[in-house]
Amino acid sequence: MKAAILRKPGTPLAVETAPDPKPGRGEVLIRVRACGVCHTDLHIVAGDWPVSRLPLIPGHEVVGEVVVSSGGVTGFRPGDRAGVSWIYSTCGHCEFCTSDRERFCPKFVSTGYMVDGGFAEYIKAPASHVVPVPAELGFAEAAPLYCAGLTAYRAIKTSGLRVGETVAVWGVGGLGQCAIQIARAMGARVIAVDLGPAKLELARELGAELAVNAAEQNAGAAIAALGEVHAAVNFAPRAEAVAHCFDALRPCGSMVLVGLPPGNFMLPITGSVRKGIRVLTCAVGSRQDLREVLALAAAGKIRTKVETARLKDINEVLARLSAGRVPGRAVLELP
Ligand SMILES: [Zn+2]
Ligand SMILES: [Zn+2]
Repeated sequence: MKAAILRKPGTPLAVETAPDPKPGRGEVLIRVRACGVCHTDLHIVAGDWPVSRLPLIPGHEVVGEVVVSSGGVTGFRPGDRAGVSWIYSTCGHCEFCTSDRERFCPKFVSTGYMVDGGFAEYIKAPASHVVPVPAELGFAEAAPLYCAGLTAYRAIKTSGLRVGETVAVWGVGGLGQCAIQIARAMGARVIAVDLGPAKLELARELGAELAVNAAEQNAGAAIAALGEVHAAVNFAPRAEAVAHCFDALRPCGSMVLVGLPPGNFMLPITGSVRKGIRVLTCAVGSRQDLREVLALAAAGKIRTKVETARLKDINEVLARLSAGRVPGRAVLELP
């Protein structure tokens, strides 16, 4: 098969021929039809994150069609539409796996990082962790839901946001765009914050009632002046965004950190106690979260803004992502 292979972190991916994966017991072989390109892939390829195995095929927003289901597989047959997220496998029975927190399973294995991912024509994966792609969704629009959509969904869920409450979404990239629509679908009101007018315009199109340009004003103070929000979800990797999120919150509000500034940063813990602010974090959701966010998209509640490219163009896509020139999500399409 053709695959984009990481041989040495810090060097471009090599688009070459690789051996076809051979599914073992309990695994399915999926012909990849689309795979999203995530910032995590950028970190893996650049060598920012230590890689435990080389060569490695990255890619963890993988969707396609089952071609082979080996012995022990129930629930999938050849021809079924199926996807693989960052959660490649977990033990399935520890305290984390049985309480919707499987990301913290001690046996957690991540797709495209600890095992080969979806920047390839085929991927094999345990059927237990493969999640069906709803018939209503095209492959390219479904792919980003397997990481960006999933993470945004879990972040909104983590915030504890309730019907009629207001959430501030900081950062209107691929995740923020999903978060705005998810919060709207859950009956909340949304204020979006970003630095670029184009992103703010898009935020309004996606359902944000208000869009605040953080390049022109202190967004935290501006939102506080409007009456504060019940929750703030931060996707922007900047320390000042975190501080402004905090300032925008009502008493007993919750702040969910998805985007993190590099290194450690300060949070006013006494202010947090006095105002009853809950500071929460979110990295990725569970398989159940993924089923829920896919159902929302299948019902037409989430529209993913994607730009497509071919597998051979992966290095160019990574360069554009690194330069901040992908306004939504980039997806590799495999014909
Ligand atoms: Zn990702
Ligand atoms: Zn487990």
